[in-house]
Amino acid sequence: VLRLESVRKSFGDQLVLRDISIDVPAHSVTALIGASGSGKSTLMRCANLLEEIDDGAILLDGEDITDPRADQDAVRRRIGVVFQAYNLFPHMTVLDNITLAPRRVHGVGRAEAEAEALGLLERLGLAAKAKEYPDRLSGGQQQRVAIVRALATKPRLLLLDEITAALDPELVGEVLAVVRDLKTQGMTMVLSTHEMGFAREVADQVCFLDAGVVLEQGPPEQVFGDPQQERTRRFLRRIV
Ligand code: ATP
Ligand code: MG
Repeated sequence: VLRLESVRKSFGDQLVLRDISIDVPAHSVTALIGASGSGKSTLMRCANLLEEIDDGAILLDGEDITDPRADQDAVRRRIGVVFQAYNLFPHMTVLDNITLAPRRVHGVGRAEAEAEALGLLERLGLAAKAKEYPDRLSGGQQQRVAIVRALATKPRLLLLDEITAALDPELVGEVLAVVRDLKTQGMTMVLSTHEMGFAREVADQVCFLDAGVVLEQGPPEQVFGDPQQERTRRFLRRIV
């Protein structure tokens, strides 16, 4: 679904991504791990065209989305994104948050968009919160609504950037359960996380980023169980 080919990205004279190549097959989960500042968020922002890359290519379903002629809005419509926090519009109800993009960007009618949204909320156990404003929800509930909102446009791919990082520990589980659920349903996802246990459980592929390069890449059993690089071993020792 998504393919990064020798992607390079600098901010000023700082090279943040150097020669990154990652292949994300359909219905697979890719976990990006690595120290703070290693480039995980930048990589996802590039994939969603929030940042322009300097070199290389990013392909979505075989189409080079970094080509200047690509339709950026069309690309963003096919990619759902959830960030660490502050995802929801505070002045809108849960339902309006979710139906905004389908109605405005995809031209779906209100009744249809709301029915769809309620169905998704139901699935995540949040149907009772449809008319609430975000500040009346717990952090975990807000993140689940943010995921519903990302799903409402029926994306090909979900990018989840540390979606549990801002949550109290007891709320992390309910958000991770949603990700687990989406995996079961075959959603293609790229996620960054500091929850190594979760990455190990849910990922089909783990990429360890270090200073803008993918230092190690493979199935979780390999990256966690038998890391090839000393740098990876040190990182995992420190974090686990
Ligand atoms: P964390 O685990 O803390 O979220 P990360 O792996 O997501 O870290 P990035 O946010 O991708 O790391 O940052 C990688 C590097 O790029 C950092 O050194 C950061 O300071 C730099 N950087 C990120 N965004 C910008 C920007 N807009 N302008 C300048 N430098 C930036
Ligand atoms: Mg980050």
